[in-house]
Amino acid sequence: MGDAMDLGIRGKRALVCAASRGLGAGCAQALAAAGVDLVINARGADTLDATAAALRDAHGVNVATVAADITTLDGRAQVLAAAGQVDILITNAGGPPPGLWSDWSRDDFIRAIDANMLTPVALMQALMPGMIARGWGRVINITSQSVKAPIAELGLSNSARAGLTGFVAGTARQVAQHGVTINNLLPGIHATDRATALDAGAAERQGSTPDAVRAARMAAIPARRYGTAAEFGAACAFLCSQHAGFIVGQNILLDGGATNATM
Ligand code: NAP
Repeated sequence: MGDAMDLGIRGKRALVCAASRGLGAGCAQALAAAGVDLVINARGADTLDATAAALRDAHGVNVATVAADITTLDGRAQVLAAAGQVDILITNAGGPPPGLWSDWSRDDFIRAIDANMLTPVALMQALMPGMIARGWGRVINITSQSVKAPIAELGLSNSARAGLTGFVAGTARQVAQHGVTINNLLPGIHATDRATALDAGAAERQGSTPDAVRAARMAAIPARRYGTAAEFGAACAFLCSQHAGFIVGQNILLDGGATNATM
């Protein structure tokens, strides 16, 4: 590759949640490559520390870590205390488990809504006032293609993320006047541990193999492959860049064309 596009965010400070592996780590990596100092979070300290060390080595940026469950009040308090003022917020957490619409209890819904709607809302409420006061900010919520086209067995995710999407739609248009943009990135299938786990689960249910499940899924994606965390991160970093200040309240599919819709 030639010289990377200058994103104009060197020296800014980002909080990337759920970022020791997978899509969150891809975002952290791309922001670090753009010269952004990071606070990254995940529950497991070992992988988180290894990811942080690799980012420091590769990009020479400051990387602080907070091992905590971002979906709990206490975990969020720890992360926010370590983060202090940030210019860029990437919200992310694990997705809810698959299942059947008739089996989900009120508690299952509350857990999913806590993790995939109210956690990002709380992080935005905590960090956007500072961004507004300083006149610049970027928020990216990692949601899912299931926001645009439902995935039936992920109904807990469909429901909770729809709520977040509604909150962002209105709020993005209230904060844009202060130089703060909020957008959602909607991943289709990406080659992460989560995708491997979903493939294994589907194989078991269908009496098939993970390889066969993967081949069938790839065949249904116009790009004929899974996405990578690196390209997901690059799109995220662009939306956090100086170039993206007029992109407000959008829901951007990164799915290799899998969602069959004209718009
Ligand atoms: P992943 O590979 O399983 O990675 C998840 C990352 O989040 C890990 O670093 C994990 O570390 C951390 N994490 C999980 N729960 C957390 C919590 N409660 N608090 C703090 N950190 C947490 O998952 P992924 O594929 O990157 O997926 C990220 C998000 O995108 C999920 O919400 C998923 O539903 C959504 N998504 C993914 C795909 C896909 O194909 N990959 C497609 C659509 C949507 P610890 O386990 O150590 O906490």
